[in-house]
Parts: sequence; structure tokens; C-alpha cells
Amino acid sequence: MLAAVLRGPKQLDITEIGTPEPGEGEILLKVGANTVCGTDLRILRGEKTAGVRPGVVLGHEIAGTIAALGKGVAGYRVGDAAVVTPAVSCGTCFYCLRDREQLCDNTDIFGYNIDGGLAEYCLIPKRAVDRKYISVAKAGTPMTALSLSEPLSCVLNGLDNYKAGLGDTVVIIGAGPIGLLHMTVCRLAGATQIIVSDLSETRRATASCLGADITVDSRNEDLETVVKDATNGHGADVVVIAIGRPELLAQAIGLVRKGGYVCAFAGFPKGSTAAVDPNTIHYGEITLVGAANAKRRQTEEALRLIENRLIPAETIVSHTFPLQQAAEAIEFSASGEGIKIAVVP
Ligand SMILES: [Zn+2]
Ligand SMILES: [Zn+2]
Repeated sequence: MLAAVLRGPKQLDITEIGTPEPGEGEILLKVGANTVCGTDLRILRGEKTAGVRPGVVLGHEIAGTIAALGKGVAGYRVGDAAVVTPAVSCGTCFYCLRDREQLCDNTDIFGYNIDGGLAEYCLIPKRAVDRKYISVAKAGTPMTALSLSEPLSCVLNGLDNYKAGLGDTVVIIGAGPIGLLHMTVCRLAGATQIIVSDLSETRRATASCLGADITVDSRNEDLETVVKDATNGHGADVVVIAIGRPELLAQAIGLVRKGGYVCAFAGFPKGSTAAVDPNTIHYGEITLVGAANAKRRQTEEALRLIENRLIPAETIVSHTFPLQQAAEAIEFSASGEGIKIAVVP
């Protein structure tokens, strides 16, 4: 089968490798689509190496059709559409036992140390099958939409942490695919006013088209003034940082009302520091939250939203590339010209 094999930093080989055969307890998935993520870019550029095994097949936003079942697999059928929750937790560590499986100390991750979805087939190991890190999706949902279940599940994990709800004003900094997914789920959760900031005109236009109430180009307008004007001077209930620039943390804290939430959703460059005014947090009772990976429950929730067409997948997945052009797809995703890029074998 054809696969995108990571040999090392900046070396992605699109090459023929043996098609895996499912052993006992394993599932073979025929990949239907694998969307490309900022993390894939950081891995390919050598900016992220922790936990990444050279020789791994890249890709962790995986949707496909079950092609074969190993001996003893129950609860799945050949032909089922399915998606993967890529960070497979151990189930027994400190975090797993405290309902924080997404923070597991012993994760194996597709596209990091388990062969991922930038290939014609993806083998789901027994540990992932046993623990239901593969979820069956409703037949007939497009594969490119299903592959959004992974980033969407991570966004739902963020929503759990920052708790946007009925009547809230939410500010989202960054209108890439992640920012647009936050916008969509905040709206579904009942936010009544959504303000999106991005430097790209096309991304602001997409945000508007998907229902942002106000979009801001922070080079021409002061975001804090816009937010204060829109909230009777109070500030937003929630601010989500969906771009990995550390200086945005101080800005976000300046945008939120007393008692509000700031979510550092994006990953920041390794070693980053941010200077913030601690008194704003102290006197304002501001809650700072992070969000990384997702629980299996959130994959299931993401699937239900996608299957019921509550996520504008056709707009968010703006481009598709064939597997032969996986490296170009990853680089293109960094260009800002598209939104979410899918690789379709
Ligand atoms: Zn991802
Ligand atoms: Zn664990």
C-alpha cells in the first residue's frame, strides 16, 4: 500500500510498504480521509519530536471503512464507517483513574508512535480496539466530514473546560479550522455573540459566512475596544486563543470580564513564556484553562454533531489532496490559503 512515512525531520517518503494484516483483536481500516493538522506540520518540520518514532506513518485525523477484523474482535463489522480517537490512553495511570484520560501519562498516539492515517490502510492495534478508540459512524456521512471528528473532539474538550453557554459573548482569536470549530460549538452551546479576530481577510470572510457576529482585523482595529463596546464595557465571558502566539495570553486576559474564562487552546512554541498582569487574574477571578487531546466520549459527541450536519464540514474542509501529495498538503495547510486540508487516498 502507499503510505507517507516519516523518516526524520523534513523527510516524508511517499512510498509502498506492506499492507498490514489484522492479528488477534486488531482491525484494519481502509482510510477514506485524513485531515492535516498543525501538529503534522510541526512534526514534519522537526519542531515536535517528543513521542514521535522515526519510520512512523504520519496522520492522526483518521476516518475510514473497516476492511477486515482480526480474530476475536466483537462489536464491529466489515464495511462500517469508523473514526479513530488517536491518543490511546492506558486506563490505569493517575490521570486515567481521575477521568482525565486525555492527559494520560502513557499514551500511544496514531501518527506519532502508532502508524497513522496518511496511508491507504491503517491498522488499529488491540489496545485501541479493546478500549474503543475506534468509533463507528453512521453510514453515508462523507469521509472528509468524519475526519473532522478528531479536531472537533479536541474542541469539545476545550468547551468542557471553558464552559461557554447560553447568552455568552465569546471571543475567538484565530479563524483557522480550530477557531471555526470553536465558533460552531459555542453557537450550539448557546453563545449569543461571537467575535472572531484574524489577520487573514479570507478567514474573516469564512467566519462571517459561518455566523460570526463581528470579525476584527487587529491591524486596523483595536480588539479590546471592539470587545468592550460589544459588551457594555464588561468584556467577553470567554476568550479562546486558537493561534500559538504566546503574547496573545496577556491580550486575552485583557478581553475577558471578571469571572470569565481564558482558554489557551493552541499549542505554543516549545520554551515560550508569556508576561501577564497577575492582578487582573486575582481581582478579576479569571479562570485560565488549557485543553489538549480528547476523551473517547468527546469523539462520540463529535460524531453525533457531524452526522447530524451541525458542523459546516464542506466549508471547513476547503481542499483535498491525493495521498501522493501528502507532503504538499501539509505544507499547503501552513500557507493560510485554505482552511482544513484533507488527504484522500
Ligand atoms: Zn490534529
Ligand atoms: Zn493513563
